[in-house]
Amino acid sequence: MKAIVVREFGPAEVMKLEDVPDPSPGPGQVLVRVKAVGVNPVEVYIRSGTYGRKPSLPYTPGTDVAGIVEGVGADVTRVKQGDRVYAHGIADGHGGYAETTICNQSQVHPLPGRISFAQGAAMGVPYGTAWRALFFRANARPGETVLIHGASGGVGVAATQIARAHGLRVIGTAGTEKGLALVREQGAHEVLNHSDSDYMSRIMALTGGLGVNVVLEMLANVNLDRDLEVLAVHGRVMVIGSRGRVEIDPRKMMGKDGTILGMTMFNATPEEQRAIHAALVAGLENGTLNPVIGREFPLAQAVQAHGAVMETGAFGKIVLTPTGS
Ligand code: NAP
Repeated sequence: MKAIVVREFGPAEVMKLEDVPDPSPGPGQVLVRVKAVGVNPVEVYIRSGTYGRKPSLPYTPGTDVAGIVEGVGADVTRVKQGDRVYAHGIADGHGGYAETTICNQSQVHPLPGRISFAQGAAMGVPYGTAWRALFFRANARPGETVLIHGASGGVGVAATQIARAHGLRVIGTAGTEKGLALVREQGAHEVLNHSDSDYMSRIMALTGGLGVNVVLEMLANVNLDRDLEVLAVHGRVMVIGSRGRVEIDPRKMMGKDGTILGMTMFNATPEEQRAIHAALVAGLENGTLNPVIGREFPLAQAVQAHGAVMETGAFGKIVLTPTGS
């Protein structure tokens, strides 16, 4: 089969399309024919060699696949051959940028018929992160207001849909008119353009002077200090993304009993993962969750896809389609 193989860390061009042996599932494992696989910024950081976690070389990137179960190993009870599934996570030694891959059975979840494979490939990291950020880390409650600071990308669209479905008031930001329209369509009550110089000054007026209870922050190195200015009393800033250092004035959070939280999905416990995906599958089934696909690339264009995911002007999720979505 064909797979993207990384033999050295470096620029996107280190990703090569190669012929590799077909994988076969061991006990408790599932062989998935990959119809689509999500492209996440973290895969760019890991491939470049600048991220804290480095897989041993060579490796195949990708954790968020959607496709059809092609075979199962011994003791697999959750799925059977022919099932449509999405996965969050891949078995050790395997990767998702490939025509087929191996998942542990705990990593695969049913994909309802109304959801495309490309949409299924948008679930794992983006929706998992959004759910964990909102409910397990920031303890968001119905009736609270959340600022989704970067709502037009993979995590932001997921967070907008999830927060709206749970009775939060959503203020979402994007950097383009197209992105703003997308964020509003996904359920944001208010949208703001983070390219405008004065957009943060509008937040206190939008919240009746109270500020926001929760910020989901996609670019903390740019926004963290100003986030503290728009926090409500007891507000929480949830740092999801950051691409550099930042200086903050701690007094801005002292006066509000404010909290800055960090998270990475790598720390999600098995119990959290079970709960998150039970809730996400329910959201796919009841129609409240509808992943948005911005761009699809064939597997051979993984290099271009890694370029695209780092560009501004996000519009939902970017996916690769190894065997056609
Ligand atoms: P993405 O699809 O590329 O989206 C990036 C988002 O950031 C877009 O909405 C973009 O808006 C927005 N953005 C750009 N400039 C901004 C600014 N000045 N202020 C606020 N937002 C801005 O990426 P993603 O998958 O949603 O991930 C978002 C970030 O979270 C990335 O840094 C990623 O590495 C990180 N992340 C972390 C975890 C974790 O476990 N901690 C998990 C997933 C992702 P426009 O393009 O419209 O300007």
